[in-house]
Amino acid sequence: MIGRIFLSIFMGLVLLVAGPAFGQQYPTKVITMIIPYSAGGPTDTVGRLVAKAMGDSLKSQLIIENVAGAGGTIAAARVARSAPDGYTIFLHHIGQSTAPALYRKLSYNVFTDFEPIGLVNEVPMTLVARKDFPPKNLKELIAYVKANKDKVTYANAGLGAASHLCGMLFMSAIQTDLTTIPYKGTGPAMNDLLGGQVDFMCDQTTNTTSQIRSGKIKVYGVTTKTRVPSLPDIPTLNESGLPNFEVSIWHALYAPKGTPKPIIDKLVKALQDALKDATVKQRFADLGTEPVTEKRATPEALRAHLKAEVDKWAPVIKNAGVYAD
Ligand code: ASP
Repeated sequence: MIGRIFLSIFMGLVLLVAGPAFGQQYPTKVITMIIPYSAGGPTDTVGRLVAKAMGDSLKSQLIIENVAGAGGTIAAARVARSAPDGYTIFLHHIGQSTAPALYRKLSYNVFTDFEPIGLVNEVPMTLVARKDFPPKNLKELIAYVKANKDKVTYANAGLGAASHLCGMLFMSAIQTDLTTIPYKGTGPAMNDLLGGQVDFMCDQTTNTTSQIRSGKIKVYGVTTKTRVPSLPDIPTLNESGLPNFEVSIWHALYAPKGTPKPIIDKLVKALQDALKDATVKQRFADLGTEPVTEKRATPEALRAHLKAEVDKWAPVIKNAGVYAD
């Protein structure tokens, strides 16, 4: 512990003295983007697209490291303790704003242990089920899960995942507690849904669109206020009988606290370039997600958004009485 404190102070001094020069040359080696969920899931999909385009902009390479588990908090703790040298960055989603209310003992502070880089995208969710799950529409689904609450299983990616948040809101809207099956990401959860080992889940369109289009899973609705352009035939949950049910997921990029400003500036520019990249734009559109505007892909916008989201979700989570010790 003492050793780590000394190391941080030493690194801080080195970066303070060498900061500007260091920033000019940056990057001189591969940058690691930490993803807090399994490979093949929605956050990983967004991360890989953005990492490739940011690498092109920085004329360097970004590699992905999936550090899954505990709803993203294991990865966040690791990033909070990483060297603030620009070679570790972190892509996380709405879970960065719900973790402080969900986890009573968080080993990091979402405001003071990270350097915001910028928001990345907004993505709707879909309520989906295994292909042979009996209910045919939302009305039937609600009646079915209420009548079979001891049998039905709901998949999520752990406390703090988007799929957890959406499931929590759904259960509270229909006033029924269900058995949840936690995975290290909705990538593996989707495999089990396709295999029929689990009944239903709520997941981002970045992970469900192709399975919905090919008819491999059932869909009951989208979680946004309006329909999603890439899935125009799918009704919103509001339309189908769950008024005011609305959840939209956002991803953002962070660096460890203390990463020098010249480096953050370069990362912001690379993120903004990535969001204008033709391949990223096309893939995002296919997957039903939207890049944020350039103004929102900034540290200031992310700082304000994170604060607003922490304030928005804390009372909701408190009312639901959900937390981990
Ligand atoms: N974003 C998670 C993943 O990539 C899933 C979730 O948050 O529900 O697996």
